[in-house]
Amino acid sequence: MNGRHPAPPPARVLVTGGAGFIGSHHVRTLLGPDGPAGVTVTVLDSLTYAGNPANLDAVRDHPAFTFVKGDICDQELVDALMADHDDVVHFAAESHVDRSILSSSEFVRTNVMGSQTLLDGALRHGIRTFVQVSTDEVYGSIDSGAWTEDCPPQPNSPYSASKASSDLLALAYHRTHGLDVRVTRCSNNYGHHQYPEKVIPLFVSNLLDGRKVPLYGDGGNVRDWLHIDDHVQGVELVRTRGRAGEVYNIGGGTELTNRELTDLLLEACGAGPDRIEYVQDRKGHDRRYCVDWTKIRDELGYRPRKDFATGLAETVAWYRANRAWWEPLKQTAGEPR
Ligand code: NAD
Repeated sequence: MNGRHPAPPPARVLVTGGAGFIGSHHVRTLLGPDGPAGVTVTVLDSLTYAGNPANLDAVRDHPAFTFVKGDICDQELVDALMADHDDVVHFAAESHVDRSILSSSEFVRTNVMGSQTLLDGALRHGIRTFVQVSTDEVYGSIDSGAWTEDCPPQPNSPYSASKASSDLLALAYHRTHGLDVRVTRCSNNYGHHQYPEKVIPLFVSNLLDGRKVPLYGDGGNVRDWLHIDDHVQGVELVRTRGRAGEVYNIGGGTELTNRELTDLLLEACGAGPDRIEYVQDRKGHDRRYCVDWTKIRDELGYRPRKDFATGLAETVAWYRANRAWWEPLKQTAGEPR
């Protein structure tokens, strides 16, 4: 954090989706040794297949932590919670593109209607700051260059369309009602505790099990990789020092094709290219995402701190050491990835 800025006032923070991959890391960070003084955290999470109570084991007995199992679409519950909180950090979502291609109704229900329920509750109860956690995918594919925050959303998958819808709703609550809403749009996250349907934990767990890894199309799709420590750093900067009604892109600075990423994972797991199985490409697969994160860098002092080689090695080591976390999930994960 930048020492020139005063410490933010203590906050009672409601974290939606706090039992998922990024939300749980946000909660562990807030309640960890470097978290803000005086913070209390309530997690609201309905524990879908992607929500895992074990992700919150590290904070379960923390005196400033409360867990509420419930749905962000439950207006009565949302109202009751909003009344006792200052800030909302909204991570809860259906988050997997492949699932949204198979069926999009849950995506619209949670990502759009759930967000609207939260925004209404925030408005009714005078929430101080509402952080809408979104994704670079709302901008759509870009062949070269990078999207800035003023580029209009052009989402291509049902997942990204539902996220773009909730971003627009959130920004409309700022413009119409004056609610202090701040939107973050980050690139592909990686790290520990990620559900093993997403590419890095899927491939690592397959490789550790001696299996092949299914690589989409020609493997040439490009993603920018961001460690969860850096994403959480960016979200906290936006919550505590960002401006109302603004969008902030959060990038990682490591662009790789899926084939390049796969090669790194093969190497980290001591496997060869014979373990790659090329599979039919994802429908409507965006070729490349890239966000320009100059704004959050210059305005809030954000810098990705985790070097990708180190972060990836730590991530692979975590999956190696934590089979008990992912093995049961692999058995129920099913086909989408
Ligand atoms: P995740 O799928 O791991 O976790 C989502 C969490 O939301 C789960 O704990 C789930 O139980 C909960 N949830 C789902 N529906 C709910 C509902 N109706 N009510 C209450 N809780 C519900 O997702 P993640 O990867 O941690 O992503 C978190 C947020 O960050 C999402 O909004 C996602 O769009 C965004 N994001 C993720 C990435 C990424 O690379 N993972 C990148 C950019 C943005």
